[in-house]
Amino acid sequence: MVEDKKKIVMIVIAVVCLALAGALAIKNFGGGGTSTSAQESQVMLCVNPDCGHIFEMTAEERRQIMRDRGRRITRGGPPAFTCPKCGEESAYAATKCSKCGTVYIQDYTSGDFPDRCPECGYSAIEERRQQKAQ
Ligand SMILES: [Zn+2]
Ligand SMILES: [Zn+2]
Repeated sequence: MVEDKKKIVMIVIAVVCLALAGALAIKNFGGGGTSTSAQESQVMLCVNPDCGHIFEMTAEERRQIMRDRGRRITRGGPPAFTCPKCGEESAYAATKCSKCGTVYIQDYTSGDFPDRCPECGYSAIEERRQQKAQ
């Protein structure tokens, strides 16, 4: 009986340790956001109304394009990339909603959370704020 209880306690401790290790790993992996790996892919959305193509680019690819273009770009506003489908410079770094999967361009002019999903209204920033407030 006592032995069984000990076993259970050991199992519980092991599970808690694993869960903690997992949580830490996730935190280290996803947290910060400053250390973007070169191979990390960014979802891109073409805003050409005739196209609307969604594709992915790695951070390294985007850096390369920015470097090649030099000063020619960015007269304010986010840099536009060439869409591989329609060939127009109308593709922007987009966000994929983790709730409904809609791909959209963040809106910094709305006065609301820029990452609010236009489809379902979910905002990861808002959720993080709410978690902190609790
Ligand atoms: Zn396009
Ligand atoms: Zn959504």
